[in-house]
Amino acid sequence: MKAIQVKQPGGPEAMELVELPVPQPKANEAVVKLSASGVNFIDVYQREGRYKVPLPFVLGQEGAGVVTTVGADVTSVKPGDHVAWAGLMGSYAEYASMTADKLVPIPSGIADQQAAAAMLQGMTAHYLSHDTYPLKRGETALVHAAAGGVGLLLVQMAHNIGARVIATVSTDEKAKLAREAGADEIILYTQSDFEAETKRLTGGKGVDVVYDSVGKTTFDKGLNVLRPRGVMVLFGGSSGAVPPFDLIALSQKGSLYVTRPTLGHYTATREELMTRSGAVFGMMAAGKLKLRIEHTYPLGEAQRAHRDLEGRKTTGKLLLIP
Ligand code: NDP
Repeated sequence: MKAIQVKQPGGPEAMELVELPVPQPKANEAVVKLSASGVNFIDVYQREGRYKVPLPFVLGQEGAGVVTTVGADVTSVKPGDHVAWAGLMGSYAEYASMTADKLVPIPSGIADQQAAAAMLQGMTAHYLSHDTYPLKRGETALVHAAAGGVGLLLVQMAHNIGARVIATVSTDEKAKLAREAGADEIILYTQSDFEAETKRLTGGKGVDVVYDSVGKTTFDKGLNVLRPRGVMVLFGGSSGAVPPFDLIALSQKGSLYVTRPTLGHYTATREELMTRSGAVFGMMAAGKLKLRIEHTYPLGEAQRAHRDLEGRKTTGKLLLIP
């Protein structure tokens, strides 16, 4: 089978299309023939070595497809089932052997590609808006990179809750998409100062929560636009990691809260994984959550997909098709 392997961390060229044996399942695993692999920013961090993975490894954390074989102890899925997952390594491949308890059955009416596109970013947008900082109607959220994969889903969920969404994006095209997703205000943060703009838009009061996946270039200013006792949710570092930080600033800027959450802790049990993925699929089925899948690449073009993602050229979801 074909797979995208990293032998040494590095730039996009570190990803090689290789031929590997089709995996055999361990007792608790199911082998899946992939219909689509999701591309996520975490794949970039792992490819670069910013997040360490034992070498060599097959990249990719997210996907969907059809179960072909199961290990001796598996009862949760069977051959022929359509399943999807997030947070399991080895997804940039034609086949993958995955821990069966981490696989979610795809509801009928949802295509494999849609499921692959919804798992990681959809469940992330869900936990951020419903659990990390449970937004309420009438509250105001600042969402950075609002036309990105997580961004477009988070804007829709925040809008559906009834919150006011202030969105930052880098281009007019992205501004249009964020507005269509439900953003009330748009700031082109590459052209104007989002700190001054957010203060103006909130009449100096500040926002209840900042959802920040950009990190290095936005974190400090983000603290300045929070209301007293507001919450900074730092959930990524697309522009680079936030440098070490003196906690006294949180007191000086208004007794603020900072959290650095990750999806794994919000899908830690089978029950929570099923509830959260079910909520996301339910929103999709009800027409309340629209996925934007305009960037699909053949598996062998993973390098191009990463260049586009890192080059800020993409909006919504990127998929690799084996
Ligand atoms: P996106 O589609 O959001 O792509 C990244 C976006 O970040 C770009 O499109 C760009 O939007 C913006 N950006 C700002 N500065 C830079 C820069 N210097 N280089 C590149 N991009 C930049 O990716 P994903 O939806 O896959 O992921 C978004 C973020 O969320 C990532 O940081 C990821 O690690 C994080 N994440 C965290 C999870 C968690 O549980 N903690 C789970 C899932 C994702 P623009 O051009 O508009 O600025």
